[in-house]
Amino acid sequence: MNSRRKFLTYCGLIAGGAGFSYASLGSSARVGAGKRKGTGMSMKFKPYVLQLKHVFTLASGSRNTTPVMLTEITYDGVTGYGEASMPPYLGENYATVQAFLSKVDLSKFDSPFLLDDILTYVEQIAPGNYAAKASVDIALHDLAGRLMDQPWYRIWGLNPERTPYTSFTIGIDLPEVVREKTREAAPYKILKVKLGQGNDKEMILAVRSVTDKPLCVDVNQGWTDRGKALEMIHWLKEQGVAFVEQPMIKTAVDDLAWLTQNSPLPVIADEALQTVSDMHKMQGVYSGINIKLMKCGGLRAAFTMANMARSMGMKVMIGCMIETSCAVTAAAQLSPMADWADLDGNLLIDNDVFTGIKILEGKVMLPDKPGIGILPLAD
Ligand code: MG
Repeated sequence: MNSRRKFLTYCGLIAGGAGFSYASLGSSARVGAGKRKGTGMSMKFKPYVLQLKHVFTLASGSRNTTPVMLTEITYDGVTGYGEASMPPYLGENYATVQAFLSKVDLSKFDSPFLLDDILTYVEQIAPGNYAAKASVDIALHDLAGRLMDQPWYRIWGLNPERTPYTSFTIGIDLPEVVREKTREAAPYKILKVKLGQGNDKEMILAVRSVTDKPLCVDVNQGWTDRGKALEMIHWLKEQGVAFVEQPMIKTAVDDLAWLTQNSPLPVIADEALQTVSDMHKMQGVYSGINIKLMKCGGLRAAFTMANMARSMGMKVMIGCMIETSCAVTAAAQLSPMADWADLDGNLLIDNDVFTGIKILEGKVMLPDKPGIGILPLAD
């Protein structure tokens, strides 16, 4: 057992996650962090363009690249890695992320273990900017975990064998293309079918002509009539669909609450939910939430939301954007808390710069590596 691990065992941090809190992490680690004091933390960041394997089509348009910002926080010779992914529809871009990160001054903190203090400070620098905030949060978690020589799932006390199967997304397309994509998704145990463009039954029947594996559907706010939506959900249940994500526009709160109350399938919030402060609006309106690090600002918020959802009796889904293995593997650390995972963002790109999460026969496999569990690939 090395000295870092001995210290943490002494602090009780790796004896199990029961009672874990970010505040207690800071106060417990303060003693040990003192030994390292003097070198300070430094952060750097650089833009990077993800090249997609296939053109990616959403209601908002098509694209074959995604901009990301890669961050690094270094302390005492150890570096943690983070990432901000900026799909255009979320409103962040290189200029906004760079402007935000330029305001972050970590030199005022003595220890990277003071995650609660540091991330509260980052949160308060400016409203919004969730992807930029996530890039700091992820790098700081990676750094702290590396300094502790422990992966975050273990620090939180989560069982790595409880990771869910990840879904693989089938986009809206012509039936022959949908059938081909369904065949290509053979290694995955669950498929996520995009709906909401008027050809819902055609999409599902095309998938069903190839496979009988469980499905979930993401309507991306596409249905407008709650009565028709309920009829469709009953039909989807007969087709072996497990849940429905964001069936109607997020502002139709009364319709969504009615739908959830009457639906035979769980109704999951995605677009309706940004971060922790939205959680109180979820109860009674949805049966579960889709947590994404780029929406909520990182692992601290995501962990809080997952715990809140469980205490509210709601289902938890962990999702992602198109990202490198950095942010996807960070999100995967939380996946033992999730009922469902949608962690395929790194599989959609051609130029990943990290290795981390692996998917084995559809199941999320957490690396036994410290921090968020990634290694940078050599240039
Ligand atoms: Mg969604």
